[in-house]
Amino acid sequence: MEKTEKIFVAGHRGMVGSAICRALAKEGFANVITRTHSELDLLDTKAVRGFYMSEKPDVAIIAAARVGGIGANSAANALFLYENEMIALNTVWQAAEAGVNRLLFLGSTCIYPRMAPQPIKEESLLTSALEKTNEGYALAKISGLKLCEFLRRDKGLLYHSLMPTNLYGPGDNYDIVGGHVLPTLIRKFETAEGHVDLWGTGSPLREFLHVDDLASACLFALSLENPPNVMNVGSGEEVSIRVLAEKVKAATGSNAEIRWDATKPDGTPRKLCDTSLIRSLGWKSAIPLDEGLAMTVASYRSELASGKIRL
Ligand code: GDP
Repeated sequence: MEKTEKIFVAGHRGMVGSAICRALAKEGFANVITRTHSELDLLDTKAVRGFYMSEKPDVAIIAAARVGGIGANSAANALFLYENEMIALNTVWQAAEAGVNRLLFLGSTCIYPRMAPQPIKEESLLTSALEKTNEGYALAKISGLKLCEFLRRDKGLLYHSLMPTNLYGPGDNYDIVGGHVLPTLIRKFETAEGHVDLWGTGSPLREFLHVDDLASACLFALSLENPPNVMNVGSGEEVSIRVLAEKVKAATGSNAEIRWDATKPDGTPRKLCDTSLIRSLGWKSAIPLDEGLAMTVASYRSELASGKIRL
């Protein structure tokens, strides 16, 4: 990717898209274009087609999605499937129609089967049944990455995908009901009065990646002349939800008592991705969880103070 190329970042206001825009600016990419939701509805095929046809970007990075934690996904699999499917088909297919030569599609490691051997390798894709709590989201993301793979094969376009593990960082969604575990825990501990109620048993294992590490992986993937169709991006740092809760408690300085609500779902028991592919090509994460957590608690507090927080 050249510094002068015109790069479209879809979803630039989200946690991932904004991190990618920060990384692009830092690296000197000066021709980045974005559209807010009200300027361009990515569910609207005609509008997306018109946008690509008039702007003709050289590169597109698809970081737009409806995302949410286990609560939001399990309550609305239909919505997560519909919106993410439409976003994927519109942003990828219409890019190809308009002659966009290179595209990076972002998914998630929840596309892999629930019982995939751990750490999860890219080749586990579509080998057995998905986790039910986020099946809609996963199916839509699988369509998107497959569409990239097919367009690359059928039309020779350099469309490829990254599958990040659970992300966190500045600009996260701190919604207690619909958010992901890490930001939710920060908010719960920051606002606790005496105790916090956490979901499930605390035994599931998760891996967390700071979003600035993902942004660096995106630039790395886009610098490869012949990138793999799908690459995992992770930190390799796996913790139980119980240990995560202790870390967040320490990072926030809270002394709240932790209570576990086993009537809430645990979700998939373990989700550690195998990052040997991207590491073998020369990329690795740089932000350890403890450091990333401290930075994220600080950004939660400043986002809250400035009124710019997403709740
Ligand atoms: P997942 O990684 O797709 O399962 O989504 P989440 O990030 O929402 O949840 C990860 C794990 O954290 C699950 O095992 C949840 O049961 C657990 N968890 C514990 N407390 C909470 C909470 O307050 N909110 C959320 N979202 N998850 C929680």
